[in-house]
Amino acid sequence: EPCGSRSEGPHNWCHRGLSRRFLRQQDKSWSGNNFGAYRDDDGRPVVLQCVREAEARIAGSEFLESVSASVSSKMVEESVKLVYGKESDVVKEGRVAGVQALSGTGACRLFAEFQRRFHPESRIYLPDPTWSNHHNIWRDAQVPERTFHYYDPDSKGLNFSSLIDDVKNAPDGSFFLLHPCAHNPTGVDPTIEQWREISYQFKVKNHFPFFDMAYQGFASGNLDQDAQAIRIFLEDDHLVGCAQSFAKNMGLYGYRVGCLSILCADSNQVGPIRSQLQRIARAVYSSPPVHGVLLVSTILSDPYLKSLWIEEVKTMANRVRRMRTTLQDSLERLDSPLSWEHITNQVGFFCFSGLTPEQVNRLAREFHIYMTHDGRISMAGVTTDNVSYLANAIHEVTR
Ligand code: PMP
Repeated sequence: EPCGSRSEGPHNWCHRGLSRRFLRQQDKSWSGNNFGAYRDDDGRPVVLQCVREAEARIAGSEFLESVSASVSSKMVEESVKLVYGKESDVVKEGRVAGVQALSGTGACRLFAEFQRRFHPESRIYLPDPTWSNHHNIWRDAQVPERTFHYYDPDSKGLNFSSLIDDVKNAPDGSFFLLHPCAHNPTGVDPTIEQWREISYQFKVKNHFPFFDMAYQGFASGNLDQDAQAIRIFLEDDHLVGCAQSFAKNMGLYGYRVGCLSILCADSNQVGPIRSQLQRIARAVYSSPPVHGVLLVSTILSDPYLKSLWIEEVKTMANRVRRMRTTLQDSLERLDSPLSWEHITNQVGFFCFSGLTPEQVNRLAREFHIYMTHDGRISMAGVTTDNVSYLANAIHEVTR
């Protein structure tokens, strides 16, 4: 019987035969507090000062449709400068087609749908490992997926030679998802030289790089430095795509503000590509919400608020980096026989600790310390007060 038949009442018709499978598939990804949201040194969520000031400025705004369209395009105009560089040729030439998206997730989903429609034979190559939702997003968009080598468990760093082999062996013109900075979940980023080599090999193979930038600013504390990978691809004249999120670097998780941009070969392509992206969004959620985007566009287009934001990003990134150093020092002071150098070699929100699932379970059971089963620690949850407790517990389960 087709869905929509009313004969079985309003709640039954779609669920018939599915409920047991649904129960088995319950989404566990929301359990715990392991997502990449920033916490201060007291473990509390933070509302940035630039956001508070922008809130005060926009108080009482009337959210008319005409206002939202212009605010949205202002946000996009300012966001793409963060990615491609405000003085870059591609921005000056007007070659970037951008749309507001429902945070980073929504930007990825729009792109995946765009890929399926306009490159129906293509696959997406995802790093192994990657943020687990990437698998869901491209699967639901019905784009076949492959993985490419990324993390090396022995060195707890990058498996660069295998990565390059996978790039070389993929069919010409393949789509690759790359994390331009602060890779989730490993915290392992290629060096500048390695990015240059990756970009070169992409050029040889005519691959398309899609950058998912959820943590700009959190790797180095500097927004431009964290966009360095993308800038290298621009120097090599690639066409690229980019998903941006303001969830972490502006602390706007609940507002769902993001941007999807596609760099076009020339400015004539911008209008058609942007309108195709808007058509996809239209069928899914019509238009994006207006409140958060007004905050972001207010901050990015006001020199004082923007410089305040840049300082606050630096402060957040520095606190996380300080905690990395302290955690590593504390473990070394305990005479741990293991090497913990990867804690400070890795960057961004996450530390891929190398702890086994059994050790992770012991930390939860005996010490009430929680992390994902792959051993990924959210460094934003580490504070001056709890870092030595954490180091002692890790030492206890690993000695
Ligand atoms: N990409 C990556 C790599 C992420 O880690 C995240 C958040 N965990 C996102 C995208 C999505 O972020 P959001 O939708 O909250 O902006």
